[in-house]
Amino acid sequence: MVPFAQRLEHLGYAELKASQVNILQVNLGWRCNQSCKHCHLLAGPHRPEQMEADTIEEVIRVVQRWSLPLVDLTGGAPELNPHFEYLVDRLHELGTHIISRSNLTVLLEPGKEHLPEFFRDRRVELICSLPYYQEEPVDRLRGPGAFKKSLKALRRLNRLGYGQKDSDLKLHLMYNPAGAYFPPEPGPLEALFRRELAAHYDIHFHHLYTLLNMPIGRFKEYLQKSGNYERYLGRLMAGFNPATVDGLMCRYLISVSWEGHLFDCDFNQALDLPLTPGLPQTIWEFELPTLRTRPIHLGDHCYGCTAGTGSSCGGRLVEG
Ligand code: SF4
Ligand code: SF4
Repeated sequence: MVPFAQRLEHLGYAELKASQVNILQVNLGWRCNQSCKHCHLLAGPHRPEQMEADTIEEVIRVVQRWSLPLVDLTGGAPELNPHFEYLVDRLHELGTHIISRSNLTVLLEPGKEHLPEFFRDRRVELICSLPYYQEEPVDRLRGPGAFKKSLKALRRLNRLGYGQKDSDLKLHLMYNPAGAYFPPEPGPLEALFRRELAAHYDIHFHHLYTLLNMPIGRFKEYLQKSGNYERYLGRLMAGFNPATVDGLMCRYLISVSWEGHLFDCDFNQALDLPLTPGLPQTIWEFELPTLRTRPIHLGDHCYGCTAGTGSSCGGRLVEG
């Protein structure tokens, strides 16, 4: 395998650098009400990792101090952090655009039923994972009953205006493959999801993002057990597309872990690959002028972001 950094070097990137920090992605913890097979974090109901109140205060201070325009809340299931509503409220007061990533089923958990209205009142944009528009593949990845629960949550959100045509309550779905293959073409897949979910369940959404499964975390374990790990890495490498490099999310985003450590992205966080030595390493040391042009810590998992049309937490990176 040609190391990823070397591949970029051949393209003239002696060092890949960030070009801005427009987004602070905040990982509120690894606890989740699900234990999906493709999870890149090994998240689940028994994970104890949760961002604590003092770290959350520092996140708010950093967003205010540096006027960061967008905060992207993720986990685990971010909604399970006991300080979730407090953080969203404070960010909303600051006028920050908030994206929250939801697995949908968490919205039916005891004590979380108020969240759809809470999101609506704070104009939170939602990116909701729904691996497929049919029951069997979703339940296979996420556990029995996950599909029906997801539909129930989506219906509630739709009733509030989320995902409806011309509504500014944005609701996007996130697709990822059920195994060791690349996502299909996003345009036709989005049309298929839209048609099937509307026809069978009267469910509506704005966009469908397609995400490639990264060969790390629980998905790596699955690849290794099924004897597909080397083959999958080989396919990612063979699919390298130089046109994706400019749009890599690490070039405009920085990620903060539940412990307050800074990373180039959520994947590096999962692998515990810190920022390049010499840079601020925690949210308490956050200095925008230094971080906005930082060199990025690359590894061979980065082939997962550059294969085909590219993949990031916002979907593909270039037109197919
Ligand atoms: S993939 Fe998402 S919903 Fe599934 S276990 Fe991981 S964090 Fe939870
Ligand atoms: S995994 Fe992707 S986003 Fe993260 S550092 Fe590598 S290329 Fe950048």
